[in-house]
Amino acid sequence: MSKPLQAIRGMNDILPEQTPLWRYFEGTVANLLDGYGYRQMRMPIVEFTELFKRSIGEVTDIVEKEMYTFDDRNGDSLTLRPEGTAACVRSVLEHGLSGGGQTQKLWYIGPMFRHERPQKGRYRQFHQIGVEVFNVDGPDIDAELIVLTWRLWGLLGIRDAVKLELNSLGTSAARAVYRDALVEFLTAHADQLDEDSRRRMGSNPLRVLDSKAPETQAVLVHAPKLADYLDEESRVHFEGLKARLDAAGVPYVINPKLVRGLDYYSKTVFEWVTDQLGSQGTVCAGGRYDGLVEQMGGKPTPGVGFAMGIERLVLLLETLGKVPVEIARTVDVYLCAFGEAAELAALALSERLRDQLPGLRLQVNAGAGSFKSQFKKADKSGALFALILGEDELAQQVVGCKPLRGQGEQQSIAWSALADHLANCANQA
Ligand code: ATP
Ligand code: MG
Repeated sequence: MSKPLQAIRGMNDILPEQTPLWRYFEGTVANLLDGYGYRQMRMPIVEFTELFKRSIGEVTDIVEKEMYTFDDRNGDSLTLRPEGTAACVRSVLEHGLSGGGQTQKLWYIGPMFRHERPQKGRYRQFHQIGVEVFNVDGPDIDAELIVLTWRLWGLLGIRDAVKLELNSLGTSAARAVYRDALVEFLTAHADQLDEDSRRRMGSNPLRVLDSKAPETQAVLVHAPKLADYLDEESRVHFEGLKARLDAAGVPYVINPKLVRGLDYYSKTVFEWVTDQLGSQGTVCAGGRYDGLVEQMGGKPTPGVGFAMGIERLVLLLETLGKVPVEIARTVDVYLCAFGEAAELAALALSERLRDQLPGLRLQVNAGAGSFKSQFKKADKSGALFALILGEDELAQQVVGCKPLRGQGEQQSIAWSALADHLANCANQA
């Protein structure tokens, strides 16, 4: 017999034990975003390769070495999306959603693909929830994005475990001046830099700032500082953002070395980081990209957004023991029937209960095994009640109703009164 096939390395199944936590997380975020007036978008998972090259930048980790790119049968070069912003901007432009300066507050969720070295918190297929806002140029919206993530950490009970790092990259004009100064400095110290940084120096010098190489970090201590090159407009914007975060009571630290991996950012950049997940510590990251829409063929349109990594946040909830106990319970009522006639009655009774109690999570385990084994399964399911329907109960048109969690004896309840009984119990719990 041949060996069963396996999934692609770095692309994970999310198993039934894990999905309740995913759904809890995703549901919490979706409700939160509804509350702030964001509307969901759904974009394709595959786009023309050109889209990502143009938006993310040719000299970035993603485009240089992480994309899943292939030719389709027509010979078009396509890429599995490595992130969501590019496709979101493409879609907004294609459908005229940002036309006439109208504000768009959008979000999306789904898989992203990057050919990275798989490890804890870093996968080749991973999932993001992304949020993007178009046509708001003030720091109020940067603040709203950060404040709503802060609220999310509160809802999830993980505020103590995450820290906000903040920086401003300035306008692209200011950054160009800084880039020249940085390149001049780096060129003068080229022999002291690591190889990667020497290579990047010419193509994407800002990325040298977040190099992990100690020799490069030692040189950078004396490098010109981006903050000293900020233009007035960016400085005012950054001060406005900080004032709003102070007003909202959101703590932050300024990290002058935070430059982010993508080319399209301007002014605000931020990351929420944790020290609980080893080196994969960034759980949410984003920033402003005022030049991107124009760069992609649209009218000048301010934009700002972020994306969070669902795997990392789920991992963080597990690591911190912040998984609410009630989400593991997927069954409310477990109906055990014994004998052919009782099984038929159980099906009719269960369908009637579903009519009467919409949303009831009812598992029917007709026919499978002895009383003892069915009861074990009922208990293991986490159900609050087991309903027992045997020959005696059938004859009397009742069920035995046994509370599995709290106190209380088994009671005999008439079929006609069962829905009311269960509803009453739920109200009292
Ligand atoms: P990192 O520095 O960890 O590589 P990044 O800067 O490449 O992150 P972004 O492109 O900003 O990440 O994506 C936003 C978020 O998506 C990250 O903060 C992280 O939580 C998550 N993420 C990114 N890449 C991966 C991956 N390969 N596996 C799992 N999550 C990821
Ligand atoms: Mg990365």
